[in-house]
Amino acid sequence: MADRLRGVVFDLFGTLISTTADDVFDNRRLLAEDLGVDADVFERVRRETREPSETGRTGGPAETLAFFARQAGAEPRPGALRRASERWLAATRRWLDPEPSTLEALDGLRAAGYRLGLLTNCSSPVEPVWADSPLAARFDATAFSSEVGFLKPHPETYRIACQRLGLAPAECLYVGDGGDNELTGATAAGLHPVLIETMAKTDLAQLTLNHEGATWAGPRIQDLSQVAGLLST
Ligand SMILES: [Mg+2]
Repeated sequence: MADRLRGVVFDLFGTLISTTADDVFDNRRLLAEDLGVDADVFERVRRETREPSETGRTGGPAETLAFFARQAGAEPRPGALRRASERWLAATRRWLDPEPSTLEALDGLRAAGYRLGLLTNCSSPVEPVWADSPLAARFDATAFSSEVGFLKPHPETYRIACQRLGLAPAECLYVGDGGDNELTGATAAGLHPVLIETMAKTDLAQLTLNHEGATWAGPRIQDLSQVAGLLST
């Protein structure tokens, strides 16, 4: 790579954590039950309102759940909302607990002097739970769609992530499993994207439209321990 790479911007789901599509669907089914909404209707509402609910326009976890319920034709009681909100935050906290090998790979990159950034499309519980995750201490900068106000692959998301990292896009490797055309977006924004192949484990393609896992023609790695090798070439 011609540019001198000084940092890495990572995707979260399917890249740093191995939350599976089943984990997410199970959680949604339980949230629907808490809210008194039919599970299939809830699932449809989640899909149809992904943009507002993952860019902060529906508010925090409890407000967002109330929004989902109303979209599904229900008016949840405060107790039900509280219960669902706690469940959503607890599940997110569980998901943000990475494998020891992930933390090792990140620590290795930090020890080698690279700056690390996070750029994730996510609903509102991820940002408040992030500080409790062992991942948090490893990152110099974060950009959550829920606070940035845009979803990847919007160019603004990459610009903000790099700016917060204090690096030019050309100085950053971008590592992701390919959801939401994030690798094509990273290329357009001037970063150096790499696909991490975690699909067999997580099956997240069921959850995101425009998954590039099967079609990406650029560089690929199988696990995070390979990132250091890409930076030094
Ligand atoms: Mg992902």
